[in-house]
Amino acid sequence: MSGATGVAILAGDTEQSPESRDRLHEITEIFGQFGEQTQFGEQTMRNVTQHYIGGEFVESHGREAMEIINPSNGQVIGHVTLGDEQDTQRAIAAAKKAFPGFSRTTKEERSRYLRRLHEVVSARTEDLTATMIEEYGAPRQFCQASAARAATAFLNADTALREVALTKGVGGAVVNLEPIGVAGLITPWNASSSFVCGKLAAALAAGCTTVIKPSELSALQTQILLECLHEARLPPGVFNVVNGKGEVVGAEFTRSPDVAKISFTGSTVVGKTIIRDGAATMKRVTLELGGKSANLLLDDADFAKAIPLALALCFMNNGQACIAATRLLVPESRLDEAKEALLQALPSFKVGDPANEDTAIGPMVTKKQYDRVQSYIRKGIEEGANVLAGGEGHPEGLEGGNFVKPTIFTSVTSRMTIAQEEIFGPVLSVLTYRTDEEAIEIANDTQYGLYGYVSGTDEQRTNRVASQIIAGRVNINGFHEAMMAPFGGFKQSGIGREYGVYGIEAYLEPRAILR
Ligand code: NAD
Repeated sequence: MSGATGVAILAGDTEQSPESRDRLHEITEIFGQFGEQTQFGEQTMRNVTQHYIGGEFVESHGREAMEIINPSNGQVIGHVTLGDEQDTQRAIAAAKKAFPGFSRTTKEERSRYLRRLHEVVSARTEDLTATMIEEYGAPRQFCQASAARAATAFLNADTALREVALTKGVGGAVVNLEPIGVAGLITPWNASSSFVCGKLAAALAAGCTTVIKPSELSALQTQILLECLHEARLPPGVFNVVNGKGEVVGAEFTRSPDVAKISFTGSTVVGKTIIRDGAATMKRVTLELGGKSANLLLDDADFAKAIPLALALCFMNNGQACIAATRLLVPESRLDEAKEALLQALPSFKVGDPANEDTAIGPMVTKKQYDRVQSYIRKGIEEGANVLAGGEGHPEGLEGGNFVKPTIFTSVTSRMTIAQEEIFGPVLSVLTYRTDEEAIEIANDTQYGLYGYVSGTDEQRTNRVASQIIAGRVNINGFHEAMMAPFGGFKQSGIGREYGVYGIEAYLEPRAILR
């Protein structure tokens, strides 16, 4: 596989059409619509002071401001005003008020809204890309794919909605699938707009109204996205967005008796908080949580393809991906060959400025995340793993941002911390096995179960092994995208599924009418 293909996989960009590529290159004004801008020396500060409630931008009641920092150079590029309980309650009230009307819309009406949302987000994918690079630091190609995915989410939901049978006969009853109520959508920082749009699209397709809390680390991206969504002129209150901290805004969603469901993407630790605190009001939940996915290379795998792919799968989105293949399982008999191939492929994964076309790995999102990755690298060394490449510290010349050295550990055993915990950085743990059965056992020896990857040439054998991986999705010989197939995890990787029909049904509750 060439370096370019590696970067394409890092972008998760296997299905992008020529049209969407063209759209990505439309030139538009980037930050023209921010409410408040201040000039500090050379730097224009972008200050996000408003939430979006009841169909309009409203000033925050909460007064606490948080700095927005460019992870590539540590510069402060803006501030976001964090919402408080009052902002959140106001947003929930707006969604509650909009629910009776919106829940009665027909499939056709919702379809029109979804198509409009697709149009308005498509028109600004270039802005979303530029802002994501600056505020978050993922490589350009990943950000482009992520922005395209945000727009496409609405079309996918529209397609899936056509397949959802909202009324059917079951056992002599007529069963209607009813929108569940106000849905609280909570998303992380590692692909902000596409998570927000994915959840929003499914909730709206189902006829739910929504309150949304994107990551507080994605405020500039949220602002651009809101400007798009506002253009779609949906009925006021159908979607409401509050910027703020999880333990304030997110916790209020979880507590509120007026929020029927939470759809959350984020860490397993916070997911557990949501289940626990949501139990008081019997919240429905969809939880998309962490992962520690295994990439299992069978002994007949073609290493010329499988090893560069293994690095791409681990380093995607700077290694800050829930679906990253962070454990590489190689047959003991081919370990030396694997090490050599890993070292040979590594230089094509260039670390650096995420704005550059050829960058494969940008900075970690925050200094805190940088420190977390460093602590795992230290832990790996302390627990006896060998550093094949990388290690602690910044790559040379990149000391000014949150850049880490892409790191490969060998001699890793399943009991080590780096084989069990989600590092969320470009750190690969290589483990060895002797038989297919042992490989499956190691792959499944984790609290997580989000993704799995298997490579091999014997199709029957590859299928047999793949079918024994306990994970929501298993990729065979590559990285395959399927936006209509269910997405979600087994075990502590989550509860429920997103995407396609499964994703919409997660916002519906059956009511059986008996005559
Ligand atoms: P996080 O759990 O810290 O935060 C996610 C969101 O939850 C943020 O908006 C945050 O403000 C909010 N939050 C925090 N505390 C909360 C609380 N008490 N109540 C309600 N909301 C709260 O996760 P993160 O650091 O933003 O993202 C990284 C994690 O997300 C990783 O563990 C990663 O695996 C996971 N993730 C999972 C998927 C998936 O689809 N399975 C996708 C991307 C990321």
